[in-house]
Parts: sequence; C-alpha cells; structure tokens
Amino acid sequence: CPWRPLASGATPPRRRGGAGAELRRRLENELEGIRGAGTWKSERVIASRQGPHLRLAGGGAGILNFCANNYLGLSSHPEVIRAAVEALEKFGAGLSSVRFICGTQSIHKDLEEKIARFHQREDAILYASCFDANAGIFEALLTPEDAVLSDELNHASIIDGIRLCKANKYRYKHMDMQDLEAKLQDAQKHRLRLVATDGAFSMDGDIAPLREICQLAQKYDALVFIDECHATGFLGPNGRGTDELLGVMDKVTIINSTLGKALGGAAGGYTTGPKPLIDLLRQRSRPYLFSNSLPPAVVGCASKALDLLMESNAIAQSMAAKTQRFRSKMMAAGFTISGKDHPICPVMLGDARLAAVMAEDMLNRGIYVIGFSYPVVPKGKARIRVQISAVHSDEDIDRCVEAFTEVGRKHRALP
Ligand code: PLP
Repeated sequence: CPWRPLASGATPPRRRGGAGAELRRRLENELEGIRGAGTWKSERVIASRQGPHLRLAGGGAGILNFCANNYLGLSSHPEVIRAAVEALEKFGAGLSSVRFICGTQSIHKDLEEKIARFHQREDAILYASCFDANAGIFEALLTPEDAVLSDELNHASIIDGIRLCKANKYRYKHMDMQDLEAKLQDAQKHRLRLVATDGAFSMDGDIAPLREICQLAQKYDALVFIDECHATGFLGPNGRGTDELLGVMDKVTIINSTLGKALGGAAGGYTTGPKPLIDLLRQRSRPYLFSNSLPPAVVGCASKALDLLMESNAIAQSMAAKTQRFRSKMMAAGFTISGKDHPICPVMLGDARLAAVMAEDMLNRGIYVIGFSYPVVPKGKARIRVQISAVHSDEDIDRCVEAFTEVGRKHRALP
C-alpha cells in the first residue's frame, strides 16, 4: 500500500509523476474496485420536472416514475412553484450568510413557526438538509455522561451524527424491543438516555414500533428522537407522521425531518421539539452555525407545501389509497412486498442480478424503478423499491403492476 506510514526518520520514496499522479492512480484503483464489486451507482439524467411522468435526457419521454420521494406530488405543484418564484422575487436568491450573522429573514422565522405548529411542538430550527439536522443534534445535546440507543438500521445521517457525539453508544437490533429493553437496562448508569430511530425505514418500508418504544422509554426514563423523513406529510390521519399514526405525539420529544421529500422536495431539514432544545441548537449546533441560510425560494416551497397540508388532509389520504391499490394488486399477482401501509413498497426478489435485470426491463417498458442490492441492503435480500405518490393515477399504478407481472414471469420471479 503506497500510503503506509513511513518509519520515523525515513525519507519518502519519490514516485513517478509525484503526489498528484499517485493520487490519480489510487483513485482510479478505488473506482475500479467499486465497479468490480458491482456496486457502482450511475445517475440517470432527467430532462423534465420531477413528477409521475418524466422525460429522460437523450430521448425517453412519457416515463412513469416510481422511484422519487415525491410522496405527495408537491415537487411540481403549481402553487408550490408560484410560492418559490414569489419568495425569490421578494427576498432574493440567497442570504450570503449564516443565520446568526445576517442570514435570518422573516420567512425563515415564519417557516419555523409553521413547522412547530404542524407537528404541535414548541419550536423548530431550520437546516440546509435533514442530514445536517442529524449531524448537529446529538453532539449539541449529549455529553460523555449520557447515552444514545440507536436502531441498527437507522439512516446513515443518524449514524454519522451519533459518531460525532461523545455520549455512550448502544446499537439495538432492528425494531427488536427485547434488545432495546436490555440496552436500556444497561444504560441506566448514564445521566440521560436518548432512543433514536427512523419513524419509517426507507429500505424496507417498515414503521418503527413507536408505541412500544415510548412505553420502554417511559419505564426506563429515556427520551425518544425520531427521524421522520419518510413520514412527514403523509403518515397518520393528518399527515403529521409516525407519531400521529401510532398515537404517541405527546410522547416523542424530538423530531428531525426533511423539506426535501414530501414537503415540496426542494431541500432543507429541521428539528422540532422543546423550546430550550431549539434555543440550544441555535447556539451550539455546528451545521446550523457554520452553514448558509436556506435560500428564500426553498423556504417558499416548503411553506406553501405545509399550508396545503394544513388546509386539508385530502392529498395524504389519496396517497394512502394509491399505496393500498399497488400493494394489494402486486400481492395478488404473487409478489412479496415488504413493509405495511407505507408508500415505500419494496418488491422482494432476493437475487441481486434478478433485481438489476428486472429494473432494466421495467424501464424498457417505460417504468422507472430502481433495484437495490448488497451492500445497500443485506446479502440475499435484493429488491426493487417502488415509491407511490399521490399524483400517480389509478391507471399509472395498474400499468406498473402489469409491467411487473410481465417482467416477473419473463425472469421467473413469478410462476
Ligand atoms: N434521514 C432519512 C431517513 C433519509 O432518508 C434522508 C434522505 O435520504 C435523510 C435523513 C437526509 O435528508 P436530506 O435529504 O434532507 O438531507
């Protein structure tokens, strides 16, 4: 390995082309390794707006899209776009500043107030992304005297956020309440315990058992944190999220979520919860303190998306009905769909190659879906992840099921 540390006092050997060439060789080797392992992620280029029907660069028009997090179809909603244009014109392109220097506009304060009201919490703080919200919260909140207990399948950004903090770390088996209880017992020696979980898990479409988690948290005097990126706006009768769906809105202390999925899909994230926590994050959270304010157009999109959701729960209800239609028709066709009642519908196939060729064949039939295999999901659990949106028509869903059935038979995933 050319990067092995030198013995002290040794002179580094000169390499052909110097450090720049060495770096290039190393990077090319690493890229080759990724290609060789079959885990290369390529990006398809879209030449239209985000929505249920796409045009791909280089041709493909009228592609039916089943792989965006555009759960409510608000990414291209005319009122959301208009709100962004108005905010852009009134408040400019951006703030060229972090929030505490000269980057806070009235629209940022209004959106924070609206988010807190939507979730029925005391206050909220905006970030450039939910990745940042997750990166900022644990370090600001927890000290070496505290403990954090995290589901093993939590999103990468929660894992990274926890890595950055100095609290004692416990990882419990995915949604395993016995294991969580054992870890909570072990963590009694610490000053404060925080259980951290995704509300809905994006690879399996399964929903955290929040009622049981909150009961255990109560029993062992712990706080509960949920990441609601795949729940905000559409889970629960009014789209408030997993805590509303499972009747524990008053038991979950902290919510992190994104503005980049159901809530208009532009970008941005937030934490909402007790006011002193939000106040502390404004003082201590590094991704908040050292990163630019959210651009006004982005704030405008999210703000309008929340208005639409607070006016009526019709969009969220419509998405639930579409999800039900897809799941029941696919299961009737003989497919196994992981999770329950969530618009993330993983079509379980097992074999990585099968998932890849079926996804490719679906695109040949005008349906855009993505295959996932190891290391994104465990070995032997390859799947095609389908995501339903409120703006899919019943015909779109039926076309997708028909294409799956044809492709599944062709590749012997169905009898
Ligand atoms: N948390 C979860 C569960 C996610 O799925 C994602 C995005 O994929 C994030 C956090 C990060 O959200 P954002 O795109 O706002 O950074």
